[in-house]
Amino acid sequence: MPEFSLDIYRALLIALRSAGYQFMTVEQYASSQIGENQRVAVMRHDVDKLPRNSVLMADVEHREGMRATYYFRCVSDSYDEPSIRKIASLGHEIGYHYEDMSISDGNVEEAYAHFCHWLEKLRAFYSVRTICMHGAPTSRWDGRDLWKTFDYHQLDIICEPYFDIDYGSTFYLTDTGRCWDGFKVSVRDKIPTYQDQWVRQGLVFHTTAEIIRALEQQKLPSHVLFTTHPQRWSNDFWARQVELVSQTLKNVIKRAFIVLKK
Ligand SMILES: [Zn+2]
Repeated sequence: MPEFSLDIYRALLIALRSAGYQFMTVEQYASSQIGENQRVAVMRHDVDKLPRNSVLMADVEHREGMRATYYFRCVSDSYDEPSIRKIASLGHEIGYHYEDMSISDGNVEEAYAHFCHWLEKLRAFYSVRTICMHGAPTSRWDGRDLWKTFDYHQLDIICEPYFDIDYGSTFYLTDTGRCWDGFKVSVRDKIPTYQDQWVRQGLVFHTTAEIIRALEQQKLPSHVLFTTHPQRWSNDFWARQVELVSQTLKNVIKRAFIVLKK
């Protein structure tokens, strides 16, 4: 099965279930009491672009009888009402993938008003209770700085994964960088301290097949949060090649950016 095909994604879901993992949305995960040995997997999807790809992924998950979480941005690359409506109708959680600080060029008051406006728009489709920052690597602004002045809990938001998930007991895997060990190239999508611990424990995976193998060998921790970018997951060969080229260029730019920042 080709890497980043929906077929291998489905194989990952099946491997998780066979290894005894129960699927939860971010909202369920944040609001449940979960035993230390209870196996739980959360599939979080950041819809950065190509929202129609997300519909296909949501459909695969629905057919596997599970619920996932989809975070949509406020820009036209991501915000597509028919796609949001369809994914919500399949029973998945919808959340806001916010970048209001970049859009408002660092003006906190403006950014908060913008945040509230888009939260309300998304709440027409789903009673949104979790949000997640879009970590635009080339932006000067860190979206999370909004919460130095304002408090999202007052908007009935119960979870922002960067703040409210305990990575001491939740293993985190992201496809940022178009592989599962891209924390090496990511500017903002990484977990401080714990990442080094996971590396020491040998919990480093490059391909989806390696994760599936680790599941078969019962080597994955009991609580796992996956982040994917559905734009790169497709059963279409040429769509995957286009994504591969654009991601390779992006990695080169990101590396240069990290060097420049040092
Ligand atoms: Zn994003």
